[in-house]
Amino acid sequence: MRTQRQVVDYSLRKRAVLRELLAGRVGTYDVCDASPYLKNAARFHGEPTDERCPICRSENLTHVHYIYGDELRQSAGQARTLAELPVLAMTVREFQVFVVEVCLGCDWNHLVEQYLLGRDGLTGSPEGGPDQDAVGGTAASGNGAGSRRRREAQR
Ligand SMILES: [Zn+2]
Repeated sequence: MRTQRQVVDYSLRKRAVLRELLAGRVGTYDVCDASPYLKNAARFHGEPTDERCPICRSENLTHVHYIYGDELRQSAGQARTLAELPVLAMTVREFQVFVVEVCLGCDWNHLVEQYLLGRDGLTGSPEGGPDQDAVGGTAASGNGAGSRRRREAQR
C-alpha cells in the first residue's frame, strides 16, 4: 500500500525467537499460544499467505491486521481484512496497523510489522516517504516492493 509510513519490521525479532526455539531455550508451548480471539480474527478477517508455518510446517500462515487509533473510537483494536484498509485510510486521518502472523494448525503467532495509514499520508507528509513513492510509479510497483520485502523477511 502506497500510503504506508513509519513501517517497523519485526522479522529480526521473529528470527531471534525461532533461534531460541531451535536452541531449546524456549518451548513450543511458549510461542504457539494464539488466543481464541486471535484465531477467530484469522479465520474471519485474515489474509492467507503462501508462507509455511516455521514451527509445524504443515499449514500456511495467516496475516491478521489489527487497527489502533483515537479516531477509530469503538473500532480501535479490531481486526480488519486487508481490503478494508485502503477504504479506512481514505476516511481516517491516521491510524496504526499491526500485522500478526498466525498458524491455525499449531497456534504459532508473531508480530510481523506495524505501520501508519490514513489521509495524512495522501496529502504529502513531513517525512516525504509517500511522496517519493508517488514519484516512483504505479501502485503495481508498490506491491512489488512489498512482496520483495516479505521474501527477505523469510530468509
Ligand atoms: Zn504451525
